Amino acid sequence: MSYCSNCGFPLPEGAEYCPNCGARVKKAPTFQQYPSASLGKIIQAGVLGAFISVMLSSLTSPEVQLYFIPSFISSILMIFLFRVKRLEEAVTIAFSVYLFADAILGGMIFGSLYIENISLSEAYRGYMLTFLDIATIVFNPVSALIAAYLGNKLLKSVGVKSEKQEKTDYRFKKEKEPGGVIYRTPIDQQAHKV
Ligand SMILES: [Zn+2]
Repeated sequence: MSYCSNCGFPLPEGAEYCPNCGARVKKAPTFQQYPSASLGKIIQAGVLGAFISVMLSSLTSPEVQLYFIPSFISSILMIFLFRVKRLEEAVTIAFSVYLFADAILGGMIFGSLYIENISLSEAYRGYMLTFLDIATIVFNPVSALIAAYLGNKLLKSVGVKSEKQEKTDYRFKKEKEPGGVIYRTPIDQQAHKV
C-alpha cells in the first residue's frame, strides 16, 4: 500500500491521482531508455560527417593546419542532426567521422603523391614536426570522445525542453461543482463534450 505524498491518504493500486486531495501520484522514476539507432544510420552519419570534415579542411589553404577541428565540429553536427541520443552511439559516430575523414584525406594526399611519383621528402621539403603535430595524433581519439560527449549533451539539453512541454499537457484542472471539487484532466473534458 502506498500513500499520497501530499495528504497521506492511502492510495488504491494503480491510481494516477489521489482520491482525497487530487494530487498527482508521484511514480518511482523509471530509467530513461532511448530508442537505439540502426547500424546503417550510424554508419551513414559517420561517412557523411567525414565528407563534411574533409570539406571543412579543404576550405583553408594547405599551409594552415586545422588538426582535429574539422572532424570535431562535424562529429557534433552529425550527432545533433541524426538525433542520436545514446552516448555509445554518439561515440561510434564520432570515431567513424574521424576515421573515415583520415582515410579520405590520406587517400587523397598519398594517392596523388603515388600517382605523380613524388617522394615524401620532396612533398614535405624537410618539414620538421612540431609538438602540436605529435600531440594531435596521440590525442585524436580523446578529442573524438569529447566531441561525442558534447554532441550528446547538446542534443539532450534540447530534448529536455520538449519533455517539459509534454508534461504541461497532463496538468489536471480544478473545478468547483455542486457536488464538491472535481478534478479533471483536459483529456476528460474533451471526452465529456463529445
Ligand atoms: Zn492526497
